[in-house]
Amino acid sequence: MEALRPPVNPETALVSSQAPIRKGYAWNATHRKMESVHYAEVNGLAIMEGDMIIGTVEEVEARTREVEARGEIEASSIHAQGVAVDNLDTRWLNSTVPYTIDPALSNPSRVTDAMNAWQQATNIRFVLRTASNASQYPAYVTFRTGTTPGVCTSSVGRVGNQQWVNLVPECSTGNTMHEIGHLLGLWHEQSREDRDSFVRIRWENIMDGHASQFETKTTYGADLLAYDYNSIMHYDAYAFSKNGLPTIETLGGQTIGNRTALSPGDVASIRLIYSIDNLELFVGQTYMDVLARPADLNGFWNALDWLRSCNGDSTCIAATRTSFARSLFESQEHRTQHPELDPSSPNYNSAYVTRVYTAFLRRQPDPEGYNWWLNALNSTGDYRGIINGALNSSEYRQRFGQ
Ligand SMILES: [Zn+2]
Repeated sequence: MEALRPPVNPETALVSSQAPIRKGYAWNATHRKMESVHYAEVNGLAIMEGDMIIGTVEEVEARTREVEARGEIEASSIHAQGVAVDNLDTRWLNSTVPYTIDPALSNPSRVTDAMNAWQQATNIRFVLRTASNASQYPAYVTFRTGTTPGVCTSSVGRVGNQQWVNLVPECSTGNTMHEIGHLLGLWHEQSREDRDSFVRIRWENIMDGHASQFETKTTYGADLLAYDYNSIMHYDAYAFSKNGLPTIETLGGQTIGNRTALSPGDVASIRLIYSIDNLELFVGQTYMDVLARPADLNGFWNALDWLRSCNGDSTCIAATRTSFARSLFESQEHRTQHPELDPSSPNYNSAYVTRVYTAFLRRQPDPEGYNWWLNALNSTGDYRGIINGALNSSEYRQRFGQ
């Protein structure tokens, strides 16, 4: 009897067994480090594990030479050795993903439905990129019909200019949710280092040449969350099967390959990557909030070193976050942008209160808050206190869905 073979998942249909396999490095947003990976070369693109575009082959080769020349792949070592900052943070700024949908894409509601699923469960926001806001959003994603039949793919994380999610008609809403997971920075669940405690890979059923699609990634410390069989980022049981038999078996009979809804673990992963408690995110976000620009390399690493010197002590981190934000707030650059922040002006305290609200809470102060803080500044000069109050308010955290 012929084995019952499920339809091939379009997420794993792209890479033929003839595609050359190469070694390179890709940025893992969850582990915050460059990881050594294998990728297949398809039409000049570096494709990892079937549907993840980690760059053009040329880009990935250049990155690989750079990382290997320096001999270190951990983020803090890259810092010391000066690998380009572009590779250090592939998250979407302000948790906002500007997007367009190619008018030729069939069934665009699968895209809007998938975006809504992520948007309802996390602090990620999708903003339609239009002619009027295009200059504000140089980095954006376009959902379009894939050029390769039977295939859905996505770039991993934010690239920095236009990037694509490629969807053929076979890509369902669930497949689109999966591709958006890659777009936000997630990798496949079954590539975790600890996966052999949860699943058994049936190597004998994997298409020839595709064993590297099942390699595990070395972890940077422990994985932060429990192994998630129900993740929308987990391969299905038949991924890259050559004979219709499963390539992945779960050790306890759990079901894998969910493409129906985001799992609580998927949501938690994105919340961690995009959490304001994530020090890299906090530093980058504070530059955007105060100076309305991304952090420069030196500023980014100096702030991060300062925060990391707390060794995880939460009281120290809270105090250092405030000191760092205040140093940007009172910098010459910020004063030049906001001439009303002139310490010699009689209106300085008033301008300070207003700007703290607009920078960190994204609104004008309400009269009660305004009067309370103005009085505090006038009587005690507590400039540190007002910034501390903003950063530790529930309103600030709610900006990040927390
Ligand atoms: Zn995938």
